[in-house]
Amino acid sequence: MIDKSLAVFCQQIVKTYDTGSQKITALQGIDLEVHLGELMMLVGPSGCGKTTLISVMAGILDQDSGICSVFGEDLLKLKNHEKLKFRARNIGFVFQSYNLLPTLSAAENVSIPLIINGMKRQQAARKAAEVLALVGLADRTESLPSELSGGQQQRVAIARAMIHSPRLIVCDEPTSALDHETGQHVLELLKSVALDSSRALVIVTHDARIFEFADRIAQMDDGKVIRVQQSRVEH
Ligand code: ADP
Ligand code: MG
Repeated sequence: MIDKSLAVFCQQIVKTYDTGSQKITALQGIDLEVHLGELMMLVGPSGCGKTTLISVMAGILDQDSGICSVFGEDLLKLKNHEKLKFRARNIGFVFQSYNLLPTLSAAENVSIPLIINGMKRQQAARKAAEVLALVGLADRTESLPSELSGGQQQRVAIARAMIHSPRLIVCDEPTSALDHETGQHVLELLKSVALDSSRALVIVTHDARIFEFADRIAQMDDGKVIRVQQSRVEH
């Protein structure tokens, strides 16, 4: 049974990559629930399946078996075009490697989710400039990704993930290229945009400096969730 009052519901998710010469089971039966209004962090050693799991949650990757539902929608049951539409409306994703389009300016990259959702280019560009200002890049809207530092590119990726106010934002190590102060600022911003009683935020991180922002922390190892803890900090 899918519980519609959850932001994300994962039940017995298995995912194996087949490289031809090798089969690697990245997820070995994941059970996890993310509540509405919650910031869930995912931690665990490199290779334990964190990126694979959030890719399934975001509808970027199909699991081999098990259920993944987001706001009550079973992603595997959606047809391709329905899934694209659902993702465009409801999900923002910050890739570990940013995935910015190299020939587009920062503002054009950030505009993409709005344009996919039907907004006119000019209006989207104005909104993109506003969101870039929130991440401290007001003066870099016209820069190409190659003209930006790693930390600046990361903030463009974060702006792109939040611009359409998606109900679920999923971030893969969003502070890895940011200094302490900028990392704290970005986390506060993500929380303010992404968290109310109808939304949720899932963040993969190694960065102990941002653990304090979590409501709960799920520890993964070897393709499994081995423990879910309440954050020690009272909110
Ligand atoms: P993490 O994000 O925790 O470092 P990943 O989800 O990226 O872990 O990877 C989990 C396992 O799956 C690792 O053993 C990794 O090598 C493997 N893997 C990830 N992506 C692929 C892929 N596209 N093809 C084959 N193996 C992959
Ligand atoms: Mg990863």
